[in-house]
Amino acid sequence: MLTPAARAELEKQQYRIIGSHSAVKTCGWTKNMINGQGGCYKLKFYGIMSNQCMQMTTSISCANRCTFCWRGYKAPVSKDWKWDVDDPELIFKESLCAHHKLLVGFGGSEKANKAAYQKSKEVRHVALSLTGEPITYPRMNELVEMFHQNKVSTFLVTNSQYPEHIKNLKPITQLYCSVDAPTKELLKEVDVPLFPDFWERMIQSLEYLSRKKQRTCIRLTVIKGINDVLLDKYAELIMKGFPDFIEVKSYMHVGPSQQRLKRENMPLHEEIVEFCKDLVIHLPEYEIVSEHLPSRVVMLAKKKFKKNGVWHTWIDFEKFHELAASGKEFTTDDYLKKTPQVGLSGKGTVDKRKSEVKGEQEVKTKEENIFVDEKTDEMEFYGEAEELVQIR
Ligand code: SF4
Repeated sequence: MLTPAARAELEKQQYRIIGSHSAVKTCGWTKNMINGQGGCYKLKFYGIMSNQCMQMTTSISCANRCTFCWRGYKAPVSKDWKWDVDDPELIFKESLCAHHKLLVGFGGSEKANKAAYQKSKEVRHVALSLTGEPITYPRMNELVEMFHQNKVSTFLVTNSQYPEHIKNLKPITQLYCSVDAPTKELLKEVDVPLFPDFWERMIQSLEYLSRKKQRTCIRLTVIKGINDVLLDKYAELIMKGFPDFIEVKSYMHVGPSQQRLKRENMPLHEEIVEFCKDLVIHLPEYEIVSEHLPSRVVMLAKKKFKKNGVWHTWIDFEKFHELAASGKEFTTDDYLKKTPQVGLSGKGTVDKRKSEVKGEQEVKTKEENIFVDEKTDEMEFYGEAEELVQIR
C-alpha cells in the first residue's frame, strides 16, 4: 500500500507502520493526560481515558482528498482495496506493541504523572481514525472482536464513502460518519472525492448508520466561509443518519491543510457554539450538551439521553464488553452512564487567548485543562499523585 517514500514520510511524522497497511501514532491528548494536563473532548463527552487510548488505522489509503485534512497528499488514495490483507492478530499485537514503545519515554520523564503513565500500559480504548479509511480493512470484524475480547472499546470514524462496510460492520462501541458539507456541490469542493457517486454513497451510508443499534455519531467539520452554510440542509442529512450524538468541530489550521486553506477558515470556539445554536433549531429531537474549548467542539445529543433532567452520554465500558461478549442484541441505552460535566461555559477562544496573553498561563481555569469532576471514580487514580491536585 505504501511506497518507500510515503512510508519514510509517515515515519518521520512519528507514525509506526504496522504490517503492510496499518499504522499507529500517539495522540497529543494521550501525552497531555500522561503529563497531567487533562484529557481530550471524548473524555469529557463520553468517558474515554485519553491516557489509555491507542490511535490507529487499518488502512492508510483513502477515497477522499479532503481540503481540511492534515494529511499530506503523499498518502495513498484509492477507491478499492487492492493490497495484501494482514492478519487481524498481527495487527492487534503489533499495534499495541508499537503504541507502548512510543510511550516508553514517559517512564523517565519528570513531567509525567506516574499514576497516569502506569495506567497507560493498559490500553482500554482504540480510536480507529488517525488517517485513511480504516473501515475498508476486509477483516475489520475479526479485529474488532479481538479488541472487545481484550476489554478495549472501539471508536471508528468513516468518511461515509463505504456504505456496505457500514452495513456489514459488527457492533462497536461508537461509530462515526463524517458529513463534510450540506450539498453535493459543496461536498465535492470540500472532500475532492474519488467516487463519482460520492453523494449517493454518503446518503446510503447515513441510511445504514440509522439502522445501527449501538452508539452512533455524525461529525461536522466546519470550515469558516466555505461549508458553514445551509444549516437546514445539514439537519436533513443528520436526520437521515439519526445518530445518537452530533459533534460540530472547527477545522484546525494545521499540517499540510495550511497549503489548501487559510487561518481565517478556522472558526473560533464561540463561532462553533453559534453555529450549533442555529443548527439545533432545525433538530427538535436534539439538544446541546457540552463543549471542549481547546478542540473547539460542541456535542449535541438526542433528548432521550437526558433522564430526569440528568444527561447520560458517558459509556459504561464494563457493561459494553459484557454485552458484546454475550452475543445477544443490545442498544445504546444498555451501556450509558451519567455525564459528570455538561453545559456551555459562555467562554470562547478569545477568552482563552486573552488569559494566555496576560501571562496568566500558569493559573489556567479548570475549563481549559478539562479535568473531569474528580469525584467520578474513573479519575480516582489521579488522586494517587497528590502533586497533581496542587497544580490545579
Ligand atoms: S479518543 Fe481520539 S482524541 Fe482522545 S485520546 Fe483517543 S485518539 Fe486522542
